[in-house]
Amino acid sequence: MIRIGNGWDIHKLIANRPLVLGSITIPFQKGEAAHSDGDVLIHAIIDALLGALALGDIGTYFPDSDPAFKDVESTLLLRETLKLIAGWSIVNIDCILILESPKISSFILQIREAISHLCDIPIEDVSVKAKTAEGLGPIGSGDAVAAMATVLLRSK
Ligand code: MG
Repeated sequence: MIRIGNGWDIHKLIANRPLVLGSITIPFQKGEAAHSDGDVLIHAIIDALLGALALGDIGTYFPDSDPAFKDVESTLLLRETLKLIAGWSIVNIDCILILESPKISSFILQIREAISHLCDIPIEDVSVKAKTAEGLGPIGSGDAVAAMATVLLRSK
């Protein structure tokens, strides 16, 4: 059996916060405002994994009202999510990052490697694309970063 899931997330970008995308910290003067480390890409992947099995969403398991998740690394939340989908293999993950700046093309390979490692799948099965919002809206003005993810799961 196969199942597909998609996820989306958006975070405000503010000063004095690290910009963490797919577990990689990108040098920049702003970063995600969040209860956790705000890794918008990992959050989108978590929602896609949960969505594929109709298991709810990231807030179901890791509520931002819970002090246990204050400033927690999102990779830890992803590892917990992978336990929830034990019995399923990830066939592939396809992601889109949407942010105006900085340009992250030089970090894409590193982000793919990190996701590949975290999810224990070959890098060829992890796609990460980056786009701008063409100057439109809060992402276009540099006040936010968003991510989308689609995953395909196969029962083991
Ligand atoms: Mg989030």
